Amino acid sequence: MSEDVKNFMENIQKKNPTEVKFYQAVKEVVEWVMPVVKANSAYQKTKILERIVEPERVIQFRVPWMDDAREVQINRGFRIEMNSALGPYKGGLRFHSSVTEDTLKFLAFEQIFKNSLTGTPIGAGKGGSDFDPKNKSDNEVMAFTQSFMSELFRHIGPQTDVPAGDVGVGGREIGFLFGQYKRLANEFSGVITGKGYGWGGSLIRPEATGYGAVFFAQEMLATRGDSIKGKTVTVSGSGNVAQYTVEKVNELGGKVVTLSDSDGSIYDENGIDAEKLAWVMDLKNNHRGRIWEYAEKFKGTKYLKGKKPWDIPCDVAFPSAIENEIDENDAKTLVANGCFCVSEGANMPTVQGGIEVFLNAKILYGPGKAANAGGVAVSSLEMTQNAMHLFWSREKVEEELHQIMKNIHEACVQHGKVDDWINYVKGANIAGFIKVADAMLAQGIV
Ligand code: NDP
Repeated sequence: MSEDVKNFMENIQKKNPTEVKFYQAVKEVVEWVMPVVKANSAYQKTKILERIVEPERVIQFRVPWMDDAREVQINRGFRIEMNSALGPYKGGLRFHSSVTEDTLKFLAFEQIFKNSLTGTPIGAGKGGSDFDPKNKSDNEVMAFTQSFMSELFRHIGPQTDVPAGDVGVGGREIGFLFGQYKRLANEFSGVITGKGYGWGGSLIRPEATGYGAVFFAQEMLATRGDSIKGKTVTVSGSGNVAQYTVEKVNELGGKVVTLSDSDGSIYDENGIDAEKLAWVMDLKNNHRGRIWEYAEKFKGTKYLKGKKPWDIPCDVAFPSAIENEIDENDAKTLVANGCFCVSEGANMPTVQGGIEVFLNAKILYGPGKAANAGGVAVSSLEMTQNAMHLFWSREKVEEELHQIMKNIHEACVQHGKVDDWINYVKGANIAGFIKVADAMLAQGIV
């Protein structure tokens, strides 16, 4: 670590002593962009780096609601309005028991560079609550989301801050959130993305993050004259991102052999084909079931209780569950077993030590801020359609998404090429940073 980075990070730690994930996310960016800042006196004079790590606004609020047993429950709600240099704050809402201000600040910080990479006019934000929708009735989820939106609605708006889904916030939650916003604001507008198709949603939004991560892997593989076809693929998670990653890998002729949830993983040597995937989607989205049920349903499948899928040999891996799910040992195991391409559907799924393993091995490693930008990119396309009162075809949205992922890949290559190898971490961080830094510079000290 250079002296400049060390000093900068010491200050981050002093100001945010309990925020370990935020520290981790900032360090990863600062290490790569510090030389760019050092080479630009205007960035230094206007303290771009010092400003970019401070959220423009942090909102925290009480969310009281009543459960089915008529007992009062209290959760904590947050919205981190991180950076509006490129457009309205944009980023998902996460409902999960592990949510803290630290989690959301790291996610909001990552979102700055990701959203910049999409090339669409959106700023960065993130929000959520420590409410866990698991094992809650529809009625309880509605009671909670209505209470959550009763405070959030005064801070958001189609030109101000446009939330979307993330872990624990799918179609059901988005519907309830939008309904309550509409009721309170007395307006039907594009204030949330990920809406249903009949009421302002965009086709391909549910698919976008998973499809995008596969498109990004395809671009990385193409630099070595290779493709997804015939590859053995591991995927973690079994939620939104994981499901559509499997769908696109299957479409392109790869074989996905794993899925997981927070209880364990399944290993299906024969591959999770379209029929099995449809069963998983029904299990997870309609019955809110657990992934171990897959092993009961499909014979010849192993259930690995309490385990992540990274011990299973593969060519390509798509971490699609949660942050820090690949530790240093997992990364070493993946590389030792022949994995040569990792495309991150999840946000910050690899710890710093694991990233170093991938970079030292010079595999094709696409960090989340580049590889999973497809979701927010199509959210931005949803905002465009809402503003224009138009509804684009599936083909058009998928084509736009594909082109955006190609452009992101190209930007990473431009800023991350090191001799005959591409350091996508360097490329993504620098390309994402420059655009936001230049906008902040132009907009003065705000
Ligand atoms: P979902 O809630 O749909 O699915 C999350 C999946 O991850 C579930 O299978 C869940 O299992 C699993 N999971 C959660 N916590 C853990 C854990 N501690 N260990 C192992 N597995 C866990 O969320 P998404 O698919 O939307 O999001 C997945 C990741 O992708 C997140 O990192 C998110 O930030 C990122 N992302 C999502 C985007 C989107 O458009 N949805 C956009 C960009 C990034 P369980 O049911 O047991 O909790």
